[in-house]
Amino acid sequence: MDDVIRVYGASWCPDCRRAKRFLGDQRVSFEWHDIEVDPDGVRIVQERNNGNNVIPTIIFPDDSHLAEPSNEELAEKIGLERMAMMHVYDLIIVGGGPAGLTTSIYAARENLQTLVIDSKGLGGQAGVTERLDNYPGFPEGIGGAELADRIVQQAQRYGVEMLQAVSVKSISSDGEEIDVEAATGDHYHARAALIATGSSYRRTEAPGEEDLIGAGIHFCATCDGPFYKGASQLVVLGGGNSGLEEGLFLTQFVDKVTIVQRSDRLTANKLLQDKVNMHKKMEVLLNREIIEFKPKDDGSGKLGAIILRDRETDQTEELHPAGAFVFIGLDPNTEFVKGQIDQDDRGLITTDMGLQTSMAGVFGAGDVRSGSTKQLASAVGEGAAAAIGIRMYLEALDAKPMHMM
Ligand SMILES: Cc1cc2nc3c(=O)[nH]c(=O)nc-3n(C[C@H](O)[C@H](O)[C@H](O)COP(=O)(O)OP(=O)(O)OC[C@H]3O[C@@H](n4cnc5c(N)ncnc54)[C@H](O)[C@@H]3O)c2cc1C
Repeated sequence: MDDVIRVYGASWCPDCRRAKRFLGDQRVSFEWHDIEVDPDGVRIVQERNNGNNVIPTIIFPDDSHLAEPSNEELAEKIGLERMAMMHVYDLIIVGGGPAGLTTSIYAARENLQTLVIDSKGLGGQAGVTERLDNYPGFPEGIGGAELADRIVQQAQRYGVEMLQAVSVKSISSDGEEIDVEAATGDHYHARAALIATGSSYRRTEAPGEEDLIGAGIHFCATCDGPFYKGASQLVVLGGGNSGLEEGLFLTQFVDKVTIVQRSDRLTANKLLQDKVNMHKKMEVLLNREIIEFKPKDDGSGKLGAIILRDRETDQTEELHPAGAFVFIGLDPNTEFVKGQIDQDDRGLITTDMGLQTSMAGVFGAGDVRSGSTKQLASAVGEGAAAAIGIRMYLEALDAKPMHMM
């Protein structure tokens, strides 16, 4: 038996996309077999499922398989630890991205018992980013997974305990102790907590998108725009402020930037619209819906074409840009503290200068924080700043006379 995990499914199947995303988030490598283009795949799926086409069917190196597994079943199968060793810690960090992991390194070095809980895989968005070219200290750039692994190893070295594939459902405080409730049903308690759950870039959910992220589809112009220096065309999906701002930024690298907007008008502010309309490198396509992202025919796995449908005429058209940047919004991962901890009008956590939230002893850092720059270096910086704020908070707590606690 080969030592690779094989996932059999189809591009239209949402459970297949979920399972692939789960494995990808855990940075577990797997082979994808689309049974619609691989007749052998249909046979294998049917053999494993009493003649039925149950997808995804996932075959493991020991030749066992799971059919249509939940994320919990997958987590168990690949051996993820989902329960912490203790129930009381000095500090609990929700979110194991660069911000949360940085805080954990600082805290554990200062002998605070620290638990990190992540709903997906450690490393956050940085861990699933193809390449990082603007993070200081790596003149040749560094793969996101490699950087994430290094940060995780550093946290392990100081004894940070880390759980993956465990979502936090709520955080509450009785004024003395913070209670963190995990989706597994476990409750963990701490004197301080950090929310570093980041934000999720909204996706178009069009077929082909998932497989081409990082291979022609991007969500950050500052991060990935420079890769396209000298290309003839880039497409920006989204006609709001971010789409236009980032589109204008991208004009420095390429001959033409095409903004594709679903509705019949741009929604960015007037100033930005004027700038775009006057810019000779920019073009705007209104009323266009994305039907599909297609890979190149050369087997490189890179973006080859974007299929659009004109919502007025129903005509389809094909664009062949070097890359596509998606700016259709950002959802902060803050649902679990809604109504408990103050947020701005976009749902981002608000903090004071010391990065403390409206709930005493609970801090916020990184992309989840209102006013953050959505850049890795800043997330790491905020993680360090939060660690110092937490230290000062705990010192003040320890210095309080007992009757005041
Ligand atoms: C495709 C892409 C490319 C990028 N490229 C660059 C680049 O080149 N340079 C750069 O500077 N920046 C880049 N960025 C941005 C950078 O990755 C982020 O700024 C950085 O990762 C933010 O770190 P964070 O720790 O705040 O949040 P995240 O990295 O988002 O980590 C948050 C973590 O919290 C977890 N989480 C969420 N909700 C819960 C919950 N309820 N319970 C438990 N855990 C939870 C998530 O699973 C995640 O692991 C890129 C981002 C993307 C998406």
